[in-house]
Amino acid sequence: MDFNDTPEEAAWREEFRAWLEENAPKFTGQPPEHDMEIGGGDYLARAKRWQATKFDAGFARITWEPEFGGRNGTTVEQIIFGQEESRFPVPNEAFIIGLGMIAPTLRAVGNDAQKDRYLTKLLRGEEIWSQLFSEPGAGSDVASLATTATRDGDEWINNGQKVWTSGAQFSDYGEIVCRTNPEAEKHKGITAFIVDMKAPGVTIKPLKQMNGGAGFNEVFFDNVRVPHENVLGDVNEGWTVAITTLMNERVAIGSGGGGGGRGTVQQVIALAQQRGVNGDARVRQQLADLYTKTRIQKFLSMRTLTAATKGKVPGPEGSIGKLLGGRIMTQLGDLTVSLAGADAVAGNTRLAQTMLAAPAGHIAGGSDEVMKNIIGERVLGLPGEPRPDKGVAWREVPR
Ligand SMILES: Cc1cc2nc3c(=O)[nH]c(=O)nc-3n(C[C@H](O)[C@H](O)[C@H](O)COP(=O)(O)OP(=O)(O)OC[C@H]3O[C@@H](n4cnc5c(N)ncnc54)[C@H](O)[C@@H]3O)c2cc1C
Repeated sequence: MDFNDTPEEAAWREEFRAWLEENAPKFTGQPPEHDMEIGGGDYLARAKRWQATKFDAGFARITWEPEFGGRNGTTVEQIIFGQEESRFPVPNEAFIIGLGMIAPTLRAVGNDAQKDRYLTKLLRGEEIWSQLFSEPGAGSDVASLATTATRDGDEWINNGQKVWTSGAQFSDYGEIVCRTNPEAEKHKGITAFIVDMKAPGVTIKPLKQMNGGAGFNEVFFDNVRVPHENVLGDVNEGWTVAITTLMNERVAIGSGGGGGGRGTVQQVIALAQQRGVNGDARVRQQLADLYTKTRIQKFLSMRTLTAATKGKVPGPEGSIGKLLGGRIMTQLGDLTVSLAGADAVAGNTRLAQTMLAAPAGHIAGGSDEVMKNIIGERVLGLPGEPRPDKGVAWREVPR
């Protein structure tokens, strides 16, 4: 592929850059916000304002129609806008789940009434969304989930617990997957719903993390009534809906949207220079190794994006970039802290954040081991894992 802009792409880049220069927030000497602080200060208000500004200019989702904040543009335009936007300290983290995962799902499987009610408000940043998939007993194997939804006339009654729900404490709505037919195999008795996060019976408890933030939550559902019109897709066909969301999740994370962003290789090179150790052969070797990995990551993501521009949906090879991304975050954190020494703990806690946030990159969006399974089975064609619950009703599977 050719990494240079065509004349048309160069014109878009110039247009986006000019618009961003005029409208985007600028660096003020303060480090940019990161996702663990979504709820802090006036962050949410600023995030909503920035999203509305983009929506009004047709940059909320460039490839979509104007009524959904787009301008009927191409995927390449969208990518170029993202590249240019990442040069500014924009407060985008609150919308990673809504825009990156839920909006494409609503568009793919939602009915017209649902699209009309939810999509524009989501794209405009007026409503924040959560993804309610993981449970205490269902993470990597999310299809084994146990939160139930039972039909009661025109409503469903939800009971159970979700966990690791990012941003639930700020959310208006959530996409939740529930068990609706325990007699079917695990993938076949699931239904997806739109749930009002402020409905009676929803209890949200933030979980404190080792980096000081509380980005995710436990969410309890106690006889929560959900109208039937909030079923997303078809009853008992929720696994297809979940897969649509999960595919988009990996793209959102792989394109730099999720979890990461707390330090870059350039920052760690600058730190080595500040400390006067950039001439040390061992430090140079570590920096070179890190730099090489980030270039490989970039080329992997360019390959995925090239496929996207040709209309291909993200495939299992996206797991390679996800796996590498986790390793880069850990290496970045370790090197930052070893270069900064005691300052990383006592002087500048932001340096320590690079290390404290790194473990999440090996888990969020699918753990390293699960990525390796996907690469083994679906990219390399190795034999599959034993699946003892195949063909067995969910109710009969020991848990
Ligand atoms: C920062 C962050 C944000 C998150 N946000 C959300 C969110 O908004 N919504 C949501 O629903 N979830 C969210 N999650 C949860 C995430 O999806 C799960 O943590 C993840 O899927 C792993 O599930 P688990 O934690 O239950 O671990 P488990 O699945 O219990 O895994 C435990 C260990 O066993 C390994 N393992 C599991 N299965 C296999 C296998 N088949 N082969 C080999 N090893 C295996 C795993 O790799 C891991 O090391 C978030 C997680 C993080 C870290």
